[in-house]
Amino acid sequence: MEPILMMDLIPQYRRMQAEMDEAVLGVIRSGQYINGDAVRSFSDALSEYTGSEFVIPCANGTDALQIALMAFDLQPGDEVIVPAFTFIAAAEAAALLQLNLVPADVDPRTFNIDVQKLESLISPKTKVIVPVHLFGQTADMAPILSIARKYGLYVLEDNAQSIGSVYTFPDGKQQQAGTIGDSGILSFFPTKNLGCYGDGGALLTGDASFARKLRMIALHGRSQKYFHEIIGCNSRLDTLQAAVLMVKLRYLDACIQARKTSAMQYDAGLSTRIDLLETPYCIPCSTHVYNQYTLKIKNGQRDKLQKYLKEKGIPTMVYYPTPLQDQPSVGKYLKLRGDLSESDTLCRSVLSLPMHTELTAEQIRYIIKQIMNF
Ligand SMILES: *Cc1c(COP(=O)(O)O)cnc(C)c1O
Repeated sequence: MEPILMMDLIPQYRRMQAEMDEAVLGVIRSGQYINGDAVRSFSDALSEYTGSEFVIPCANGTDALQIALMAFDLQPGDEVIVPAFTFIAAAEAAALLQLNLVPADVDPRTFNIDVQKLESLISPKTKVIVPVHLFGQTADMAPILSIARKYGLYVLEDNAQSIGSVYTFPDGKQQQAGTIGDSGILSFFPTKNLGCYGDGGALLTGDASFARKLRMIALHGRSQKYFHEIIGCNSRLDTLQAAVLMVKLRYLDACIQARKTSAMQYDAGLSTRIDLLETPYCIPCSTHVYNQYTLKIKNGQRDKLQKYLKEKGIPTMVYYPTPLQDQPSVGKYLKLRGDLSESDTLCRSVLSLPMHTELTAEQIRYIIKQIMNF
């Protein structure tokens, strides 16, 4: 058996090596390193894949969050609701713009914003809700949208982890994660489901004038060459990365399927150990694209299990060990307003198993066997 890795990018490259080498060398030979043809063709392909009318590529997912927040024209002290249990990026982008952060507790089954607790977090200063579609599932968007409409709030979806996840509204209408709110962001960090060979990101929106504004902000706030209408930034997707993504987008559905197959094998093998763990819950209103396969470990045994698995050659990760309310960097921007106990508890109990497109059935059997032996 090959050694088990948390993520395995090199064998994935090898499977597409001929196409990839040609695409990358094509860019190098073309000399069009900034805004080359691949940037436009990738944006068009992504628009087609996601169903989002406008795609604005940028340098990374964190920039995308910042650019969207800049485009909402907020005032310092305005409030942004972000999940307490997530990666720091959305909160950090908001804090950089002097916005205050209201952490929202998450549903312990889905790890996504708990819509029952959401409305009580809203104040007259609240302007934006940032649902994060964590680990591969879409947050429950219908109630989030209706709360946002009721209070006149923007909805910015952090879809860094769940590209390809499909949400079903109560009336049966289906939409991809990231295309449901006012805007959605994507990250193409190498370990995301659609990852490039460096950094990359994009913004999605269905609104033409908002798309124009996002583009302007990502390009120094300029409306014509050397005339700058608003403060922007310099955030571009490299042509090289766009060429890489163009190849990888063709494999995205197959990659998602490989992740689902691995998740089903984990589910089947681990579901009997209810004394020790809970396997990931799949909410009926969303498909799951398994950017992570995250267990909840019971009775305070998480760290012990992690150490045990490490000794058996099985890497695992804790996404995430610290909730937003305990992050020193954003401390002075925090407005604590509701119960955050589920997020706290999750930070102490979650454990993500190896999950990527190159896992073999044999490796998963071995991982299951070691967890059963624990
Ligand atoms: C990866 C990630 C980001 C940031 O993406 P970068 O491209 O690394 O800047 C934002 N939010 C979440 C939830 C992420 O997982």
